[in-house]
Amino acid sequence: MSFGFATRCVQSRDHDDPHGATAPPLHQTATFRQPTATDFGDFDYTRSGNPTRSLVERHVAALEGGAHGAAFTSGMAAIAAVTRLVKAGDEVLAGDDLYGGTTRLLARLACSHGVRVRHVDATDPQRVADAITERTRLVLVETPTNPLLSVTDLRALADVTRRRGVTLAVDNSLMSPTLQRPLELGADVVVHSATKFLGGHADLSAGVVVTNDPALHERIAFTQNAEGAGLAPFDCWLLLRSLPTLALRVERQCATAARLAQFLAAHALTQRVLYPGLPAHPGHAIHAAQASGFGAVLSFTTGDAALSRRIVEGTRLFKIAVSFGSVGSVISLPARMSHASVPDALRSRLAPPEDLVRISAGLEDAEDLVADLETAIAGVRCARISAASRGD
Ligand SMILES: *Cc1c(COP(=O)(O)O)cnc(C)c1O
Repeated sequence: MSFGFATRCVQSRDHDDPHGATAPPLHQTATFRQPTATDFGDFDYTRSGNPTRSLVERHVAALEGGAHGAAFTSGMAAIAAVTRLVKAGDEVLAGDDLYGGTTRLLARLACSHGVRVRHVDATDPQRVADAITERTRLVLVETPTNPLLSVTDLRALADVTRRRGVTLAVDNSLMSPTLQRPLELGADVVVHSATKFLGGHADLSAGVVVTNDPALHERIAFTQNAEGAGLAPFDCWLLLRSLPTLALRVERQCATAARLAQFLAAHALTQRVLYPGLPAHPGHAIHAAQASGFGAVLSFTTGDAALSRRIVEGTRLFKIAVSFGSVGSVISLPARMSHASVPDALRSRLAPPEDLVRISAGLEDAEDLVADLETAIAGVRCARISAASRGD
């Protein structure tokens, strides 16, 4: 019998604790006693493996519809492990709107590891197909992208990469497996910043790599052990504590984001509202065909960077912070915050616009959040009117 997603969020962290503990046990230990000097048990050393980590890896993998998971100390450590799949002389094709830290990591891979990295507009799978060469080993994309919320047709992209024998990795942090499961759409690898929706409480930094391919998993697990960036037991336990509420949180956060998008789209002071749930969004239909919801993150522009900044600084319930997916709503200026790490040489092409504001809807009452935004925007408008009457 197959269960629904919310049931699996709660149930798939089942474990075989000998005492029948209902909550998952925390194995806060660095070492495990061996039966004899030459026999190893299932675990010997926490860098190599720990039962609490195995449990969270199985749980996230199951939610993504994957067979294998590997948990890391951050989303970046997870993505770095995936980049170890390529070697000097190989090529990575990456989407052109990615998390700023990913763009920075790829730039370093290109500078000091001899890997060729090219950014392409991955919203058009044909462009990716045209860009693939015999050196291309890895295609790495986000959909929707962060922070521009552009959408890529994952089935079409997976068709391209499969035909050309290239590994397709999808960063699914923005959606979480509640809404989108790229492995089921043909991707080879899914990566997560579990710091976002999976953790969901802004109290944990973590990353996960999930795949169905045992050979790929073995290479990722090798990196996890060899480089020592596996997620620590207590953080695994915190992540296990978050996962049962994942579906509930994401569903409510999506409903609130849709309400905020509708409010902002109707407001005279916004220019563009980027949210795949709006029917006018260019990726609306494709996204709806590959995901079961539109997410809790949206962006908007005002045409004026100073004005955007004042809106960001004028909210009370939305905290000014990087990251998204937490129970608390946040607001940010990506060009100055999460994407400040895009290297200077790439900024003109790969950095988000200066007037872009990004919002992540939390679990507060939607109408309180609307009122908070309304007040912040009205404050900006009043400041403008009084500036105009003073003549400055
Ligand atoms: C935050 C984020 C990352 C990096 O994850 P960390 O946990 O901060 O290391 C990678 N990809 C996306 C899409 C993100 O939003």
